Amino acid sequence: MTTPLLYGIKGKEKKKMYDNIKEFLCSEKSREDMDRFGIYPDSFHKNGNITAFMVRGERADLLVTSFAGGFHGEEIEVNGEKWIVCPKDHLNAEALRRVFPFTSPRAVLGESSSMGLGDRLGIAAPGHLHAISGTEVYPVLAQQSMRELNLTHRTFEDVLDCASFFVFREGYKKGFGADGDHLKKKEDIRTAISCGFTMITLDCSEYIRGDALEYSDEKVLSICDADKEEEELFCTRSHRVGEYSLEFSKAELCRAKLIYNEAIEYTAEVYEELIKGSNAELELSIDETSSPTLPVHHYYIASKLRSIGVEVKSIAPRFIGEFQKGIDYIGDIKVFEEQFAVHAAIAESFGYKLSIHSGSDKFSVFPIIEKYTRGKVHLKTAGTNWLEAMKIIAKKDPGLYRRIHDYALQNALEKAKAFYHVDVTEEKVPQINDVCDEKLYTLLENDMERQLIHITYGFILDEKEFNEKLFSTWRKHDEEYAVSLAAHIKKHLTAFTPFY
Ligand code: ZN
Repeated sequence: MTTPLLYGIKGKEKKKMYDNIKEFLCSEKSREDMDRFGIYPDSFHKNGNITAFMVRGERADLLVTSFAGGFHGEEIEVNGEKWIVCPKDHLNAEALRRVFPFTSPRAVLGESSSMGLGDRLGIAAPGHLHAISGTEVYPVLAQQSMRELNLTHRTFEDVLDCASFFVFREGYKKGFGADGDHLKKKEDIRTAISCGFTMITLDCSEYIRGDALEYSDEKVLSICDADKEEEELFCTRSHRVGEYSLEFSKAELCRAKLIYNEAIEYTAEVYEELIKGSNAELELSIDETSSPTLPVHHYYIASKLRSIGVEVKSIAPRFIGEFQKGIDYIGDIKVFEEQFAVHAAIAESFGYKLSIHSGSDKFSVFPIIEKYTRGKVHLKTAGTNWLEAMKIIAKKDPGLYRRIHDYALQNALEKAKAFYHVDVTEEKVPQINDVCDEKLYTLLENDMERQLIHITYGFILDEKEFNEKLFSTWRKHDEEYAVSLAAHIKKHLTAFTPFY
């Protein structure tokens, strides 16, 4: 996937855009003029002697700037004044961030409410921004894991550039974050930070010895010992967090050490070498494990990190029940509530936020999340905007959707299941031939269809025939996509306040 460049816009389309730009530059520059000439009204910005705005083309947008500021592109002259028509490439994104600092990401985990709004396709930010406008929720618009980067053939740079251009176009000035999501290796973290990412989600799963959860107390004590100081600190008193009280037996302390000490050491290493002194905030993710994080273990991790001076801004525990991709919570809601309440109290007493991963579409637990965090939480979503984008395809090009469905089912599902923990199997997927074109989009209300399409996105996008058609259809219906995506994301805001 590449961001369309100026040089890809040719012939009639280019002439029309250039005529529009010139006429606009000779006009009054009212909102009406902007609409008339295809200029995005909220994209008109000035800083010092530099004016810039964005113009809409059929296939891509172009940036137009004053002849200053380090932008590059084609020069044009209007009434003796020079302007540059710029492609949306990396160099121009960097210039944009220099000249208009609101297009640079910043740290947002310190804000009370924040939401990860990953945009795998590079088309979702307008809908995301509509969804949170007028709220106190700070968006992380650039958010991609290595797996997502690989599957979409994108880079950290590209993901951030996309977000910057959209923030500029939509005139959003409150600040947004950029999250190098689920990073495991130091070199990837280094790359994300050097690209300007303001948040690193460290995935320690490879250092977590989850098997020790099953060990008997005797076995735990025979493998691991706690020193006197540690034993006194954890085991001789109960630990109050909010209205809850946590207790450690010696075996439980040793079990926590066995499972998490290597992960804690690695976190400390990453923090000292890469995070400290950088512009990035650290989120620790311990959610990619097979069993839920016990509240006492969460407490152990938090107090260990504090004692060695590692500042985490958020922690993502693995909650009880199942947070499968793109569908509602699976599990006993009462049990979830009991444990979530304690996790929230631990986070609050240590002064960081809970982060909820795979947070999209978990409508039945959002009120619980709100109740115990009072909106002081980070909610991460990523793939749900892809499903909303596929809903647009089902509505606008049912034939294409049917071909993609068949391809996903026959060629991609089994391979994709290696990456994701999901319930979907071939037999559970609904029969697409039973659904008429008009109702085709309602298939995406079925959990099994959602998971089928959700996890196979990389394979689908890799098919050239699909890729080109998908992107041109999304471009053609981008306003409709933004509206429906915003409506869908808004439904998630009950995690932050009951009034949204
Ligand atoms: Zn996660």
